Amino acid sequence: MHLLLLFTFLLIGSASLAQPFVPGQTYFSADGYIEYRCGNLPLILTAPHGGYLEPATLPDRSCPDAVTIRDGFTQELGRVIDSVFNEYHGCSPHLIINHLHRKKLDPNREQGIATCDSPQAVAAWEAFHRFTDSAKALVTRDFGKGLLLDLHGHAHTIQRLELGYQLTGDHLRSGDSAINSAFRVQRSGIRSLVAINRNGLNHVELLRGENALGTWLQRAGYASVPSQQIPFPLAGEPFFSGAYITERHGSMPGGSIDAIQMEHQMTGVRETAATRRVYADTLRRVIIDYLQLHSFGDTGFLNCQPVSSGIQKQNSHQLFSLYPNPSALLPQIEVQTAGELKVYDFQGRCLFSGMLESGIQSLPFLPKSGGIYLISMTTSSGYGFYTRWVYYP
Ligand SMILES: [Zn+2]
Repeated sequence: MHLLLLFTFLLIGSASLAQPFVPGQTYFSADGYIEYRCGNLPLILTAPHGGYLEPATLPDRSCPDAVTIRDGFTQELGRVIDSVFNEYHGCSPHLIINHLHRKKLDPNREQGIATCDSPQAVAAWEAFHRFTDSAKALVTRDFGKGLLLDLHGHAHTIQRLELGYQLTGDHLRSGDSAINSAFRVQRSGIRSLVAINRNGLNHVELLRGENALGTWLQRAGYASVPSQQIPFPLAGEPFFSGAYITERHGSMPGGSIDAIQMEHQMTGVRETAATRRVYADTLRRVIIDYLQLHSFGDTGFLNCQPVSSGIQKQNSHQLFSLYPNPSALLPQIEVQTAGELKVYDFQGRCLFSGMLESGIQSLPFLPKSGGIYLISMTTSSGYGFYTRWVYYP
């Protein structure tokens, strides 16, 4: 695809959110801060706290109670979960990523505290939730129901996954009959699943029965609370129960998309590309079983039209790789075939052009500011390859 067309497509895609989204294509908000990769599975992943960008044009969030710590590697976690579904099944979850650092925007809070009333942050917050609404609308149209996993990282000492169904530690400790009460079910992030799961399991069974998500993750090697093995956090133990995203986009307010906030420890899960990949592949298998048993009765949802990215489809052979990416410093570029390198900013302006030989070298261009850049290479035979680089100095 010609670069101009590519940019035109990106810009049109981002400017007109009412337009149909195409599975396998990636869309950005007009400011470039929010990314939506459209999928074709009844699964939505959100990564609100893994952003790197700290543009000076957005004020730091300094309103009362604003939490500004990044959840390290949760953006990367979302991408690798997306990748393993693609590799094994040719299908994609929907993936929504906030590229802004939490200092600038927290999409997992209501708008006031999320943005501290910065108009630019408000625009990005709205884009994040509009993309999520679009993903939910597509899943509902195509499957009638689905699951949203909101991906986070915690720094609690106890090394286990914390699954947030909008039930606090106190709620989980309150006993089965309280948890199964209509009052508590109506406030659950999986309210719809409790009503329509195929085996008639009740709320408690879905939270910590033998076929609960936490139980299966624990069996697969990832200690989880709640689960059959760890039914609730003990009094005084820290526990994240879910926040704005799972409250707004789960089935509590209505609809049939359930939402679970997943809080991951660093050790053994988020810390390296290898641990993330092993975890992502485990989660893939668990989620397929979960959707099959509780929602669909079979794995027909995996019979998707294989997704194709407008970029990757044209360039299945990778001419170069960039690492690290995202990066805070000048990344290394490993070039497979010599060619012309170009760096574009998000508006499609060419900032750098030069010839590169094959081999490993530093990227020969340092932008003036952080942001999302497109790096392209074209060989003498006219063969092109593009990739996206996130730079956060
Ligand atoms: Zn978080």
